[in-house]
Amino acid sequence: MLQHQHCQILIIGGGTAGLIVASKLIKKLPAVSIVLLDSADKHYYQPAWLFAGSGIMAKEKSARSEKSLIPNGVLFLQEAAELCNPDENYVITSQGKRIFYDYLALAPGITVDWAGVKGLEGSIGKDGVVSIYSYEQLDQTWQSIKIFPGGAAVFTLPATPLKCPSAPQKIMYLAEEYFHKTGVRKDTNVIFFTAKDKLCEIKKYESTLKKVIERKNIKIFFKHDLEEVRPDKKEAVFKSLVTGSKETIKYDLLHVTPCFQAPVFLKKSRLTQKNGLVDVNPYTLQHQRYKNIFALGDAADLPTPKTGAAARRQAKVVAENLIRLLSSGQPGASYNGYTSCPITTGYGKVVLLEYDYDKKPLETFPFNQAKERYSMFLLDRYVLPYMYWNFMLPGRI
Ligand SMILES: Cc1cc2nc3c(=O)[nH]c(=O)nc-3n(C[C@H](O)[C@H](O)[C@H](O)COP(=O)(O)OP(=O)(O)OC[C@H]3O[C@@H](n4cnc5c(N)ncnc54)[C@H](O)[C@@H]3O)c2cc1C
Repeated sequence: MLQHQHCQILIIGGGTAGLIVASKLIKKLPAVSIVLLDSADKHYYQPAWLFAGSGIMAKEKSARSEKSLIPNGVLFLQEAAELCNPDENYVITSQGKRIFYDYLALAPGITVDWAGVKGLEGSIGKDGVVSIYSYEQLDQTWQSIKIFPGGAAVFTLPATPLKCPSAPQKIMYLAEEYFHKTGVRKDTNVIFFTAKDKLCEIKKYESTLKKVIERKNIKIFFKHDLEEVRPDKKEAVFKSLVTGSKETIKYDLLHVTPCFQAPVFLKKSRLTQKNGLVDVNPYTLQHQRYKNIFALGDAADLPTPKTGAAARRQAKVVAENLIRLLSSGQPGASYNGYTSCPITTGYGKVVLLEYDYDKKPLETFPFNQAKERYSMFLLDRYVLPYMYWNFMLPGRI
């Protein structure tokens, strides 16, 4: 039998976006009933997966118990959303509860789809096929880089929407530097197959990255998408997104950035665009058809790269708009597309990207962030994780 429950605000997803919006709301609206739905036991600071996959830190440091991060006053239901009925304002959970809401904030992220590439699902983690896009694969990724004997080291970036589109470049730059340390770089071809047509959308940062690629002597194939992995022959098949032709490459190390997909319950709930992401106004983050629904984080269909930094800014806007709606106002807060990503170009070097929907750099520091800097590496490695756990998730900034 279905159990019924009602809350004023229901948040789906307790990742970066969901926890920040929950913290901000409960601080301002302590008397409002807020429920957060997520079946996960663990919450991950995913930017640290780059450090774990490149031997800089232990992967366990990126994980904390989900329960321990739920803000006081927010009711945590450790269940997944199975279906949303936006016409009747309720969500059905994996344990069969029917939760009615006045307002809904959707923050379920996007998930890895290993099956999106033929032959990949069974081969990840074996015989040189690795990825920093999976917590379980991080130790194997680092081991494979550490003991790489030389040969073809191939890195990929897919055509689907993905989390932190710079991460595939970052792990490639770190691996390339490590191959010098182990003395195998002279026997190694580092090759990058990317579905994109450039290294970065912003010219200012792209010119630095072009120099990094040149300095590191990395070969790039733009507009190429990984179509198949043949682990028995150590072959990867790429398709040109321009001509449709296929190319088979032999690899010794294959770092795969997998395809991603939005959680299926969103599509079943008729809340999405064709790409499976939630159809929201890019400024107010309000659903295009259901005015009591908002979406934020990776699951929202927004024309800006999917990063935790973007999710934090979106959480501020969604919280403010929900507060306004609850006091009978209009959603006036607006998101400008801000996104940020520290691109690690070596052990001790970072270029800090920050920009908005207009592709205009919005830099925090009073110096040129397009320059590779040790100070920005320290920020990325030590300051940002500390701020994440102690200030961002608790909604203090
Ligand atoms: C390797 C890597 C490197 C990265 N580097 C950076 C970086 O340097 N800088 C940066 O800013 N960002 C970076 N990111 C991206 C950043 O981690 C994400 O953009 C951010 O976590 C998005 O937050 P989110 O809340 O939308 O999704 P997530 O944090 O993924 O959380 C989604 C939550 O929703 C839950 N959920 C899913 N389905 C359901 C359901 N049906 N019902 C209930 N709950 C559900 C999940 O369990 C999860 O807890 C990186 C990501 C990766 C993987």
